[in-house]
This record gives sequence, structure tokens and C-alpha cells, in this order.
Amino acid sequence: MFFSVEDNIISLFTSLSFNNQFIKALPADVDETNQPRQVHNAAYSWVKPTSVVKPKLIAVSQNVAGILGFLPSELTHYEFAEVFTGNKLLAGMQPFAMCYGGHQFGHWAGQLGDGRAINLGEVQTKNHGLQMLQLKGAGRTPYSRTADGLAVLRSSIREFLCSEAMYHLGIPTTRALSLCLTGEQVTRDMFYDGYPKLELGAVVCRVSSSFLRFGSFQLPAARKDLSLLKQLVDYAIRTDFSRLLDENSGVYDANLYLKWFAEVSERTCSLIVHWLRVGFVHGVMNTDNMSIIGETIDYGPYGWIDNFDIHWTPNTTDAQGKRYCFGAQAEIGQWNLFQLANAIFPLINDAEPLNKILNEYAENYQRQWCLMMAKKLGFAHYQGESDQQLFVDLEVLLSSIETDMTVFYRQLAKFEIKKAPVQEQDWLPILTAAIYNSAVLSLTLKEQWSQWFTRYSERCQQDEHSTVDKITLMNNTNPKFVLRNYLAQQAIEAAEQGDYSEIEKLQKILQNPYNEQEHYQAYAQKRPEWARNKAGCSALSCSS
Ligand code: AMP
Ligand code: MG
Repeated sequence: MFFSVEDNIISLFTSLSFNNQFIKALPADVDETNQPRQVHNAAYSWVKPTSVVKPKLIAVSQNVAGILGFLPSELTHYEFAEVFTGNKLLAGMQPFAMCYGGHQFGHWAGQLGDGRAINLGEVQTKNHGLQMLQLKGAGRTPYSRTADGLAVLRSSIREFLCSEAMYHLGIPTTRALSLCLTGEQVTRDMFYDGYPKLELGAVVCRVSSSFLRFGSFQLPAARKDLSLLKQLVDYAIRTDFSRLLDENSGVYDANLYLKWFAEVSERTCSLIVHWLRVGFVHGVMNTDNMSIIGETIDYGPYGWIDNFDIHWTPNTTDAQGKRYCFGAQAEIGQWNLFQLANAIFPLINDAEPLNKILNEYAENYQRQWCLMMAKKLGFAHYQGESDQQLFVDLEVLLSSIETDMTVFYRQLAKFEIKKAPVQEQDWLPILTAAIYNSAVLSLTLKEQWSQWFTRYSERCQQDEHSTVDKITLMNNTNPKFVLRNYLAQQAIEAAEQGDYSEIEKLQKILQNPYNEQEHYQAYAQKRPEWARNKAGCSALSCSS
């Protein structure tokens, strides 16, 4: 790729050192025009970000900046926003968009690709290997199809805040370095009702060691381009799964590919168990939104469970089918892995071991879910079937009337375990704090809850954990603060009026989601009634 004077390359932020391995290792699109098209025999296309009129930095993650090696003074440099909206390139950056396909809502969609994401280059970090910088919303690429390549402030705030919140919850995720306004307006039909509006344009700089998706492997497989498929798989293994390659004595063979698939399967499973632990619903688990390294990726119409409901989906496009609702995520993970298995089959040519791994996913998920639930309830160990029954019965009760998931588990740590029979006054305040409308708590339900708390109390009494250990484990497993949909929406509405203080505040609170942070009590409350059916708080469209 050739750069010209108008590429606006600047020699700034020299503390960052670029080492662009992806483009070195994989084939580039020979066509360098920025026109929508099918791209064959290539993992990516060269494309430059589109210039914007007035970049302005409105939020930055100090933690990510630190990982990348920025000096504190560089974050306040007036050129920072120019670079992280794509107006200027740093020496060493070589921008490109990745080519991938995917299944969308169960149907093969063919080529998709980075329609509005532009990778800038890989930063060599001190402790986190190579980290790719990627601008989301930086203009059209050969993969934009008929769309504009842009992103609006509303969805960019949601991506910025949620990816950082997810990281601090201890859940694998792409990160976000910065959030900038472009100074331009973008047209969006937020409700898909034929009334488009002008919104503020924005760009988030995302960061990950890999932006490869299941769909990155599916596309060459669907096109029977085995050479590209193998190059991509080998590259993914070499860079993000190098331990497997070492264990296989550096040999790329069917055995290695199977071990790799088993690890992708394990990472996917454990990611989804994390989501279920904290009440996260991704909302669009299409195979192009499934990270090959098992990170949460592509924050679109995601949502957080307020009242516990396994059928809840925040995505209006999915309101009927509920394909990606809270409780379906583990199964969808397996469905997506099945598509990945199909894609890599030509490298293995044996369906049986692939099927075995897919079946193990289901068992693994059951096991991991039970271990996770045991932690949520504060147990030292998972004790098998009777514990599982306790978990299942709890979820039935939580669903029976609107009960806030996050508040409930946090309250549960306050339930006092004692030898005496459990009385209503021991558990009712705990439950009441989490219930949306306590008037609907019938006598029958009270009786059922009473029985459940009695069983829970008995189980805790024979557990090895001391009370202190139990409470510590519960409060390290059950977050007090999550990015409730209405909280994000409030920050968005303020930011659209030019007030970015809520973004900063949420960023700060969500850095310590398991801590009490008494002074931020207001951010750990049940969803207020006004937010129940408000757009952005209860349901979101894919429009972003
Ligand atoms: P998503 O549903 O966000 O995962 O996007 C699916 C596909 O549409 C991906 O290839 C995206 O890059 C592309 N896409 C989404 N929004 C836009 C946009 N505004 N401009 C161009 N491409 C987009
Ligand atoms: Mg996507």
C-alpha cells in the first residue's frame, strides 16, 4: 500500500510502537478502490478513514491508554481527536477493513465485512502483546454495501461504556480507548418507522488482540477458498492460541485444528456463562458478531436484565422470534460453533471429532453454569443434583413476578444464616427490595419463597464456607453496578445536549462494579417506572 502527502501522516504519540502482523501475514485485496464489491482471495482491503469536519474527544479510557503505552500528556494533546477519528494517521499505521461473512438470524448472509470499522494497526504493548486499534464509524469501506459507514453518538456511547464495564466485571471483551464526536450529522431512522432524524456522528476506537470472527472463516469456506481458509486458521492459532501450536510441536495438522476448535468452543461457553452471571443479553449473536478469541464483540442493541426474565431480548428486530433472548444465548453459542465446525471441516475431513466437541459444549455449559450459580449463592463447592435443583427453583421464583436480578443477588448476601427455623421476617425484606411490585406477592408465592429460603439456609449451614467467605464470594460474583439500560440512556440524552458528565460518572462507577460505593447508591437501584417502556431503556433497534 502506498501513502501520499494527503494521507496526513504525523509523527506524534511516538510512545506507541506499531507492528502490523495481520496485514503482513494475510493476503490483501488487489483492488484498492473504495467501492462496494465482493472481495475474493483476500482477508482485507486497504481503505483510509474518511475525514470529518470537527473532531472532539469526549471520553477516554485511562486503563486502555496505559496498556497501549500512551503518556498521560498525549491524551490531552489537541491532535488526539484528529487521530482517533481518522483525520490523521500516525507513522506506522496502515489502515484496512477486514473481509468476513456470517449467518444473520439463522440465515447465511454471504459477504459482510467491516462496513464501518477501519483497523489502523497493531500496537506492540509491554504486557498485552499486539493490540489492534480499530475505528468504528470512520467512513465507508468496500464492505459498506448500501450503508454509510458511520456511527452515531448514541450507539457509540453504548459501545464505549459497555465494553469498559464488561472488562471491569472480569468478562472477556474488546476494549474501547476513546470516544470522539466527528462534528458531523448522520441520518438515522431509529425506529424504522419512516421518520429519519439527524443525529450526532461519533467514532469509538476499539482495541483487541484479534477482531477475527466466526464469519471470517465461514466466508472462505463458503467460497471453497481452502487456501485462504487455512491461512486464516493458521494465523489465528499462531497469534492468539500459540500454546496449542507449541503443544503440537509446531505442526499444523487436523489434530491441531481440532484442539483449536475445542478451545474456541470452551472460550465461547465460558463467555456466555459470564453473561448469564451478570444479566447481559448481547442481542445480535450472528456469527459475524462472534469473536474467535471468545471476547464480547460488537455492542449493538444489547441490554442488561432488570427484572429476571429468560425470554427477554432488548433487540426490537428480534422481538418476535426471540432467537437471541437472555436464556437462549448458550444454545445459540452452540449453533454458531456448529457453523464454525462446518467452515473448518475441510481442514479436518472427519465429522466425528467435531461433533464430539459440539456435544461436549453442552455438557461443559451445564457444568459451568452450575459452578457459576454455586458461586452466586456463595457455596464453597457445587454439590451436584440437589444444588442444581435449588438453582433451577430459584430461577422459577425469580421469574414468577418481576424481580430485579442484580438487586436480588446483592441482597441475598445479606440473608442471615442461623440454626433457628427461617421466619418470614428473615427473607421478606431481601425479596421486597428486589421486587418491582410487592402488591403482587401472593400467599402461595410467599410460601414457595419461604420453602426456598429454608432449603438455602440448610444448604449454607452444611457448607464449608464461613459467613465472611460466603459474603465475599457472593459480592465478588454478583455485581452491584451494571450498565442498566436506562442509565446508559440518561448519559446519552445528556451527551446529546453537550453534557458529558454522566458518561464520565458511569465510567468511574463501573470500574468497581463489585464494590459497595455507598455514595453512588442511586446507580444501583431497580429500573425506575418511567423507563419501563421508554425507547433505549427497554428496547433498542439495530439502527446505530
Ligand atoms: P452488525 O449488525 O452491526 O453486526 O452489522 C452487520 C454488517 O453490517 C457488518 O458487516 C457491518 O460492518 C455492517 N454495517 C452495520 N452498520 C453499518 C453502517 N452504518 N455502514 C456500513 N456498514 C454497516
Ligand atoms: Mg457486527
